Formats: sequence, structure tokens, C-alpha cells
Amino acid sequence: MHKKVIRVIVNSVGMVQETGREVAIERLAAVIGECRKCPLWENTHHAVPGEGATGAGLMLIGEAPGKQEDLTGRPFVGRAGKLLESLLTGIGLTRDDVFIANIVKHRPPGNRDPRDEEISACTPYLEEQIRIIRPKVIVMLGRHSSRYILSFLPVEFDRITEIRGTVYPGLLFGHPVRLIPTLHPAAALYNPAYRVALEEDFRVIGRELAGTGESTTED
Ligand code: URA
Repeated sequence: MHKKVIRVIVNSVGMVQETGREVAIERLAAVIGECRKCPLWENTHHAVPGEGATGAGLMLIGEAPGKQEDLTGRPFVGRAGKLLESLLTGIGLTRDDVFIANIVKHRPPGNRDPRDEEISACTPYLEEQIRIIRPKVIVMLGRHSSRYILSFLPVEFDRITEIRGTVYPGLLFGHPVRLIPTLHPAAALYNPAYRVALEEDFRVIGRELAGTGESTTED
């Protein structure tokens, strides 16, 4: 077959796949918006399902929406979000290039830690998002998302500082992925050493996305 025809067919298949993913992510967001599986929704303005490129190679997973996120329905739009955006800029990305989600989709009152039963109720949504998007690299921001995602390998840890910046290759829901735990950007807002650590970890993330894997500790 003529090369141009082949290219058109390949492009059309890609577009159909992409549209399918967008629709699936939107439908899931609508379901999350109506979710009453735990009581967290009761004190909130909006669910925060997650947003970004549905064909993204990089997915970032935070903990739970904060005040600004609850008011807008968008993840990481407060001060921690600004830091996250600058970390992404440092590796040549914008938030439109990635998909950003959280472990828990409604804001816990007073920004308290999400409870085990809330995490259990909410994580099937995150798992579905991962199945739909199938990112090459998943970055877990902070100990809650790191603990949850790494439990699938399984990898256990005491302190996030012990494992941050490590690349864990593995299979998640049948798909190969590289999992990278790092600190939560909110923790770095008042701690310059954490900010340096985050910048270091984002360089690892950039290398993983570029496919050099220079920083990989195991395979
Ligand atoms: N912190 C998170 O973990 N998620 C957000 O969306 C915002 C702040």
C-alpha cells in the first residue's frame, strides 16, 4: 500500500483511540461527580476527578484536593500546584502534556489525611483512569499515593525520603509502567531542601520519559 495511505490509516486509528480515551475519561469524571460511596462529598463544592492529556506518557498522582481544588474542581491549582507546574517546566512539559489525578477525589475536611476506608472507596476510579490512559511513567506525589501504587508491586517503605527518586519498573493492570515516588510539592513549599530533592527527582522523571533510563536502579 502507498506510504501516504498507510500513514492516513495509522493516524485515523490513533485519533479514534484518542477520542475513545477522552470519552471514557469524561464519562468516568461524570460518575465521580455523583459519587456517594463515602461521606467525603458532603462538605465539598466539587469533585476533583483529575485532568490533562488522556494520551499522556506521564501521569502524576497526588493525595487529595485542597481548598482551591475543591472550589474549582481542578487538581493542583493552589500553591503546591504552582510549584508542580514549575517542576514540569524544568523538564520541558506543561500541565497540558500530562494527566494529573489524586488518590481521593473529594476534599477531606480541613485537609486532613484521607482515611483507609475513603481510599478504598475512591481508588477504583484512579485504577480505571490508569487503565484508560496507560501512561509509560507514573509519578506518585507524596507518601499516600506512593504507598497505594507501590503496594501493587509490592514495595513497602517506612519513609518517603528513603525511596524518593527511585524508578520501579513493573506491571500495573497488565501494562508495563515505570513508577517513581517523590515528595509532595506542598511539603517543599517551606522546605528548600525538599525543593532541591523534588528538582532532582524531576530530572530522573525527565530522563525516564526520554527513554534513557540512566537513573534506573533495577529492571
Ligand atoms: N494536593 C494534592 O495532593 N492534590 C491536589 O490536587 C492539590 C493539592
